Amino acid sequence: MKVTAEVVNGNCPTCSELTMLVGLTPELFRCMNCGADLHQHVNGKISYLPVMPSQSDGATPFVKEWKDG
Ligand SMILES: [Zn+2]
Repeated sequence: MKVTAEVVNGNCPTCSELTMLVGLTPELFRCMNCGADLHQHVNGKISYLPVMPSQSDGATPFVKEWKDG
């Protein structure tokens, strides 16, 4: 099974650092700085949505737009 990891530079919304984000899947990235998992949403724009498993139901995750260029 071929595994290719896409690595992009981006601002992590979780730790607010400009860091490397490693693509685990086409939609899931992991911050190399703080280790947070981010969902990539493509709907005209690209944004990263932090995965917060500890968050309770109904909570709205903090979303920050990822500026590409
Ligand atoms: Zn981070």
